[in-house]
Amino acid sequence: ANSTMSALGTTVFEVMSALAREHKSVNLGQGFPDDKGPEEVRAAAAEYLLTGHNQYPPMMGIPELRQAVADHAKRFQGLDIDWQTEVLVTSGATEALGDCLFGLIEPGDEVVLIEPLYDSYLPMVRRAGGVPKLVRLEPPHWRLPREELAAAFGPKTKLILFNTPMNPCSKVFDEEELSFIAGLCLKHDVYAICDEVYEHIIFDDRRHISLMTLPGMRDRTVRIGSAGKSFSLTGWKVGYITAAPELMKPIAKTHQFMTFTTPPNLQWGAATGLRLNDGYFATLAADMQRKRDRLATALAEIGFDVLPAHGTYFVTTDFRPLGFNGTDEDFCRHITVKAGVTAVPVSAFYQSDEAPRYFARFCFCKDDSTLDSAIERLRAHF
Ligand code: PMP
Ligand code: GLN
Repeated sequence: ANSTMSALGTTVFEVMSALAREHKSVNLGQGFPDDKGPEEVRAAAAEYLLTGHNQYPPMMGIPELRQAVADHAKRFQGLDIDWQTEVLVTSGATEALGDCLFGLIEPGDEVVLIEPLYDSYLPMVRRAGGVPKLVRLEPPHWRLPREELAAAFGPKTKLILFNTPMNPCSKVFDEEELSFIAGLCLKHDVYAICDEVYEHIIFDDRRHISLMTLPGMRDRTVRIGSAGKSFSLTGWKVGYITAAPELMKPIAKTHQFMTFTTPPNLQWGAATGLRLNDGYFATLAADMQRKRDRLATALAEIGFDVLPAHGTYFVTTDFRPLGFNGTDEDFCRHITVKAGVTAVPVSAFYQSDEAPRYFARFCFCKDDSTLDSAIERLRAHF
């Protein structure tokens, strides 16, 4: 496969948001909340901007945020993290992923990935010289195919990269599945990068389990989080990596030449956010669950086959029952232009040409009025 950057298309999120702007559609494509985010978090960043030190912060991140990341990991996952050697602040989870992949992969290393996958994973793994080994989850339950996963690991495997709660299919890995993955990591002596940006966006009394908490995984897991998702501030691009010191070293070396650091006032705001009480995080999940139900119920009434969504901002729908003749890309374009509602084609989250082409991903992290207007438009159209 071609690993040059110039051979890449533009990310589906930008393509669909541009199309949404052009057609003034209700944009339920790219995942970003209508909510402004917690007032105290934004106030802390604003206050710091006006009165704080707006010069380069330390390369690893401001101490207040690194401490807050460590304390938050203790509070929600029971992890004991040394904030000085085991936490790195990045410019979004996107940079965190790049730092990890470029820092850890040597050309020819095999990387196990779980498909469907977030759109930045494959290009970055390839560009780092990694050889992707993809294991596919099948709808509607997206269960982990254990034999295939085991077969994807071998002597050349360097690491597994996966995401829970999972974008786009809204799966949450349970303890058994995580144990199985951990067992393979131990057996083959490999690392795991766990993208946990939606750790607090999880529904129906499910619990997010960090792979890092499983036996034997403490020092071989890299955990990635994002203030964008936890505080509904996706434009801030503040992320954080937690990893054992030896694992962190090459990651931090990459970070120093990628961005070196992240705006200090936003780091200060994120630190304030991570210290919000448990009630904040519970309310965030409950609000999102209510929004999921509002959108999922309406889409089902309109005639979509709506797949289960256990976490994230997204619900996957099968549009074939509506009688639409065409691919998921055609469908998402069609509803943008003809119904005034935008969704994202799920085939964008697959490598293979055999990707399912009948799923559209709708984002529900929106005001009720935005959701209702999208629903009205779809109802009128179908
Ligand atoms: N990983 C996943 C699974 C995501 O959905 C996102 C956000 N779209 C990211 C990483 C990137 O997060 P950030 O905006 O913090 O860079
Ligand atoms: N993570 C967001 C989504 O899945 C988009 C992020 C981006 O636009 N790069 O919709």
